[in-house]
Amino acid sequence: MELSVCCLGTGRGATAVWEGEPSSAVALLFDGRPVLLVDVGFGVVRACRHWLGTVPDTILVTHNHSDHAAELPVVLPLAAAAGRRPRVIAAPAVVERLQRHRLHELRSTGRPLADFCELVAADGPVTLADGLTITLLRARHSEPSCGFMLWDGDRPLLAYGGDSAFSTAYYARLFEAPTVILDARATGNAEHAGFGAVAAYIAAYPDTVVRITGYGTRAQAPAGLAAFAPGDRLSLGAEP
Ligand SMILES: [Zn+2]
Repeated sequence: MELSVCCLGTGRGATAVWEGEPSSAVALLFDGRPVLLVDVGFGVVRACRHWLGTVPDTILVTHNHSDHAAELPVVLPLAAAAGRRPRVIAAPAVVERLQRHRLHELRSTGRPLADFCELVAADGPVTLADGLTITLLRARHSEPSCGFMLWDGDRPLLAYGGDSAFSTAYYARLFEAPTVILDARATGNAEHAGFGAVAAYIAAYPDTVVRITGYGTRAQAPAGLAAFAPGDRLSLGAEP
């Protein structure tokens, strides 16, 4: 099976609202088939349909900020109307926030949330396909936020950092994978890594494929780092 990851957007907080470019998100494809959408913030559903022609039936939500979760209460009823019931995966603390806040508006339908999705509070490995699992990793952010690792058995294939401040402890875990996608922006702060800190860290990993996301619009992409850009695809190799 051929595995790849596709960039759908790189927007930060206000990018989609203010500039019209999609929020940061990726999709995993197995043999070219979209199987996992990672984050569903402002502008992501449209970008997903544009680049992939569909929205995968499994959606991972890294955290409840609008640029990562805003379109969830819209896309779930659309899926239900099409006879689909997506699986929504998030860390238990994120699931609690999604239920209480993000998905509150679905109560006006008079239908239980279970009609719209299978909400999975992931506190262990989640199976995507035979032998392929993801595990969530707690990032350093202003509220519960997770990245994830994609595993083929016990072999890491991909690490996705999600929104996180620079953290050597967190990065050490992410860089167990041969391909790493990191959140970073021009100036780092307590919630997001800065380009400079990331550049200094990754210099020690010349063999790791690194892509940067979450930087904002195309014009805000880092000059000295490899930016992921909407439509870009990275091959994660084939299953042995
Ligand atoms: Zn965030």
